[in-house]
Amino acid sequence: MADGGKQQEPEQSGRVHQGRDAVFIGGEWRPAVGAERVDVLDPATEQVIGHVPAAGAQDVDAAVRAAREALPAWSATAPGRRAAVLAAARDLMAARRADIAATVAGELGAPLPFATAVHTDMPTAVMGTFADLAAEHPFEETVGTSRVFQEPVGVVGAITPWNYPLHQIVAKVAPALAAGCTVVLKPAEDTPLVAQLFAGILAEAGLPAGVFNLVTGFGPVAGQALVEHPGVDMVSFTGSTAVGRAIGAAAGGAVKRVALELGGKSANVILPGADLARAVNVGVANVFANSGQTCSAWTRMLVDAERYEEAVELAAAAAAKYRPGERLGPVVNAKQRERVRGYIRKGVEEGARIVAGGPEAPEALPTGYYVQGTVLADVAPESTVAQEEIFGPVLALIRYQDEEDALRIANGTVYGLAGAVWGPDDETAVAFARRMDTGQVDINGGRFNVRAPFGGYKQSGVGRELGAHGLAEYLQTKSLQF
Ligand code: NAP
Ligand code: MG
Repeated sequence: MADGGKQQEPEQSGRVHQGRDAVFIGGEWRPAVGAERVDVLDPATEQVIGHVPAAGAQDVDAAVRAAREALPAWSATAPGRRAAVLAAARDLMAARRADIAATVAGELGAPLPFATAVHTDMPTAVMGTFADLAAEHPFEETVGTSRVFQEPVGVVGAITPWNYPLHQIVAKVAPALAAGCTVVLKPAEDTPLVAQLFAGILAEAGLPAGVFNLVTGFGPVAGQALVEHPGVDMVSFTGSTAVGRAIGAAAGGAVKRVALELGGKSANVILPGADLARAVNVGVANVFANSGQTCSAWTRMLVDAERYEEAVELAAAAAAKYRPGERLGPVVNAKQRERVRGYIRKGVEEGARIVAGGPEAPEALPTGYYVQGTVLADVAPESTVAQEEIFGPVLALIRYQDEEDALRIANGTVYGLAGAVWGPDDETAVAFARRMDTGQVDINGGRFNVRAPFGGYKQSGVGRELGAHGLAEYLQTKSLQF
């Protein structure tokens, strides 16, 4: 989703938000009904840095009721007024940049420059795009003898993951609010602190009570209660395909609208005639950014047989620059670390050759959930590490024979979220990209665009986030005939 390794930001001294022992419902911070808490760890130090409530079904019910109560007034608020609140939120996010970055660096373990440039500045920019879209969007049009209105879907239950904690929240909450919906958010248990900061920012921006509500807690408890609540009109989820499948089934059973942003195993296709060194270097940076915990990461690099060994050498050299504890942060928790190391071992069992990194703990880092930046060569397209989402700093290099072979391999997974094509010119790369079964493709190093629709083909999801397409997810149409 964002390419990494940009170390251009100065050191900042923000404060890590340590958590409030409260949920945010109906415009106020109040204790959760139960006493259970979620401890938040810093993955780099393995120390507890804060805690938040583990909300239960009663808290979720109170939050949904508050959102329903706030819906009539907020949905009737002029789009220009909604835009002004979102613009104020964007300005407050910019003003709190150092605190947001320090908090995400703390709870996710992201190196501070990346936490600032990507985890903070990107969602701030996204908030700005929805402030603009709320003001610009034509919520009404004429179709022959009809007037067609785009109206908010209603109460949105948003469930988000930990990998881009604030970005995933803003990518749902900002368009929902722009559309006139009200929201209950259940953020990931690993990264709830920045969600609390964000709730405070929305309140300070002038969002009316009940329009946005925050219930922290565990997925199978608070998350499931939110999905199943009859007062929720739409569920918007980002996370694993396994949980997404269950949420889609539950929402479908209740005939609720559902948006799913799920996993990926995206292909980085380097065609003959492309600038190999650039394609490989950008490709490695793309996979290792955020310690490989990016749903849209180009985790499969496809290179033609003739230049394959050269690409392997380039990738190994690029990977060696990502020292764990410096440019490469830890992964989010101990379970994820073991999962990623298990995949590296599995790759070797299935015949891959390790050319950088490996499953062992990085030297001289006894503490922290670190995994070595790993490059696997000679990966068979059908093997586990070429098919399943690893969600760690692991790149699989795959050899192809000709363009048709490359296309077959690129399209040969259940996923279709993102990808890249490098060719001798844009035209050649575009022709290949148009045949890929995937929602986004970066052409010859094209950069992430926060206004472009983002979302998956096949089992990578349902629906699109960001920009005008992202706004449309939260709208339904009504036509009046004259
Ligand atoms: P996950 O379990 O799908 O979690 C995503 C969100 O859903 C979290 O807020 C989670 O709560 C919640 N959740 C979990 N079970 C739920 C349920 N039964 N009902 C409602 N909500 C539920 O993902 P994860 O465990 O954090 O990560 C596992 C794997 O998912 C990763 O290794 C990666 O492959 C993939 N993943 C993909 C993305 C993506 O952007 N596509 C993002 C993150 C992870 P808790 O935080 O309490 O679990
Ligand atoms: Mg989970």
